[in-house]
Amino acid sequence: MRLRTPCAAMPRAWTVELRPHPGGLVLVCRQCLHTGGEVTAASARSAALTHLARHARSDLVPPHLRICQCHERGCRWHRRHRGCDGPVRLLLACERGGRVWRLADACSTCAAATAQAAVVPDTALARTLRRLPTARRRKRQPRGPGEQTRVREMLSYLAAALPPGASPAARLLALQCALRANATLQVRLPQGVLRSLRLNSPGSWRELERAHWLRITPGHAGVVVAELLDATLFSQAPARPDRMQAADWALRAGSPSAAGGIGPLPQLATVYLASHADPETGCGLNDLDQMARACGAHPTELPDTLDRLARAGLVRSWQVCPDSGDLQWTCRRFDPQAARLAVAR
Ligand SMILES: [Zn+2]
Ligand SMILES: [Zn+2]
Ligand SMILES: [Zn+2]
Repeated sequence: MRLRTPCAAMPRAWTVELRPHPGGLVLVCRQCLHTGGEVTAASARSAALTHLARHARSDLVPPHLRICQCHERGCRWHRRHRGCDGPVRLLLACERGGRVWRLADACSTCAAATAQAAVVPDTALARTLRRLPTARRRKRQPRGPGEQTRVREMLSYLAAALPPGASPAARLLALQCALRANATLQVRLPQGVLRSLRLNSPGSWRELERAHWLRITPGHAGVVVAELLDATLFSQAPARPDRMQAADWALRAGSPSAAGGIGPLPQLATVYLASHADPETGCGLNDLDQMARACGAHPTELPDTLDRLARAGLVRSWQVCPDSGDLQWTCRRFDPQAARLAVAR
């Protein structure tokens, strides 16, 4: 349990509101009193996140001075829990159906208790950088858990950052883009990778463009070049080689050869289940609604999807607990080496 410390000088919590306006919506920041121009419904989410990211980047504080801002405000943002605990990270939360967005430092316990919220992926970086000796490049560490965690966190973040109606195909694409982008938010996805993901139809790109999540740079042959507009993601992003490895992990976990044949939702569901399962046993337990949000599906669609995955041999077993609504599953044993070879072919 962390004791409450007086530290009002660095309140790392920012909130923006999207207020109805005769011409559409207007962005109002509760901290800097910025009142932006009108935004359309399609661009509102991205404008809100961009504004919050700017605050987070300009108010940087050394990690040891970051405190749980939720606790500082009496933990009014979530249901009761037994006290703050765990590392402090940036939490993106959405309230009132997307009309209020908040980015704040919060401890793991508060983060887990907050509805409609996602941790902005960053500890992967902190952990990696602290441990990164110069010889790391030649001698690779075991990669499974690190990549799995990065993919899991990115899926959780995208569940909050993408519009609720974003399709599973657009989400698969966004996951690859977020993990493969370079330091200037540019991403180059070769057509070959898109084909292996079965994401070579332009519809998913257009969907992400319409959500103002990315912008395509036209005029490139054999490769799709895009600029990501989601600035929150890279306020403290992991070093690119680590993210690239996580992108490859997601590609392999999604088993494009098997799950891709039955569509983008089963493919995304496979990545979700693999990234949320115990890497040793393949067993997982999670809230079904949370999985539905991350996959851009309705919870009632998932049983059919899970059955199809079971028929394709990608899930060994699954069941929903009638009382808690939790989903329990066992993945087919995921062999990264074999999967790597399959993707290479
Ligand atoms: Zn502001
Ligand atoms: Zn709290
Ligand atoms: Zn807390």
